[in-house]
Amino acid sequence: MTQLANETDSINLAQGFPDFDGPEVLMEAVHEAMRSGENQYAPCRGHAVLTEAIAENRRLTQGVVLDPKENILVTNGATEALASALLGLLNPHDEVIVFEPFYDSYVPICALAGAVPRYYTLRFPDFELDEDRFSSLINGRTRMVILNSPHNPTGKVFSLEELKVIERLCVQHDLILVSDEVYEEILFDQARHISPSVLEGLADRTLAISSAGKTLSVTGWKVGWAMGPAPLIAAAEAAHQFLTFSTARPLQFGVARGLALLEEGYREILRSEYTARRDCMMEALAELGFKVSRPQGSYFILADFKDHSEGDDRAFAKHLAKSHRVAVIPTSAFYQACPEEGRRLIRLSFCKELSTLRDAIERLRGLRS
Ligand code: PMP
Repeated sequence: MTQLANETDSINLAQGFPDFDGPEVLMEAVHEAMRSGENQYAPCRGHAVLTEAIAENRRLTQGVVLDPKENILVTNGATEALASALLGLLNPHDEVIVFEPFYDSYVPICALAGAVPRYYTLRFPDFELDEDRFSSLINGRTRMVILNSPHNPTGKVFSLEELKVIERLCVQHDLILVSDEVYEEILFDQARHISPSVLEGLADRTLAISSAGKTLSVTGWKVGWAMGPAPLIAAAEAAHQFLTFSTARPLQFGVARGLALLEEGYREILRSEYTARRDCMMEALAELGFKVSRPQGSYFILADFKDHSEGDDRAFAKHLAKSHRVAVIPTSAFYQACPEEGRRLIRLSFCKELSTLRDAIERLRGLRS
């Protein structure tokens, strides 16, 4: 879709990258690190400047105490943390429960590990977790659950009650939980991000994964990390060591500065700016005749376009790019078990300047005529 966006000179609401920069102080911290000779390989698990900042951030946000040396692994984006976790923890034929629609790297990484995904379909517009439907996916081969909350692309934030269901089943069947929390700071209304790792039954079986890309608006830096009990970190590290070995050293200084910045007012700015963007998109899409869900987190919104077209999501996304010059994602690509669920939905990213979003909305007004 990004290629089509470029070819058609479309506003790109397809790929989830901000069209604004991260905070200037991050860049200064990186330049300073480069100028002071921090340019050779970082330690495999991450530079202490960053692992200590991550431990402090986790203490403040989730009340969890992490040992920076034992419980943290810095990686090349959350994607490499996920790959390291799955490659390090899964054996061929192990089964993994994945919620669909999903972030598109989960399934190929399962394939690389020789593991078999089983899908729980979250259904538009409520995306509820049904305990019976979820537990029916578990059998003797099930080894892991991958949870993503706040969730891409639905914007769902799993509630404490839902996390407790997952806790109960993980404990009962001795499952590992990989908790993808990359949108942990992008929250709306009264939504709170509770990391499943704070629940008693999940604390010693959860690998939580974060990314600087989303929180600090620097997706191009590809700095992420995994947090969890020492044996799970050691397993992920065993894969990370031979995938990439370490993560860009000077960037780790910038991310450490960014995590401190969250406590200096940046978190509140981030939330209020994203709330304005979400509200702008929700109102405009509803006015244009789309049925939309109300994202509680992340920077995506799903829209049911059936009042505009009888065609499928791919045809409609192409039409929007070619005729209205707005690029979106057809969501059937995010489903395996139930692609028909995605055939009526498009995903729009609102991690853009308000002016960009308003321009896109102006272009979409043509849909009415
Ligand atoms: N998880 C989810 C749910 C995502 O949406 C993304 C990015 N689109 C990632 C992980 C990957 O993050 P990173 O860019 O840090 O690899």
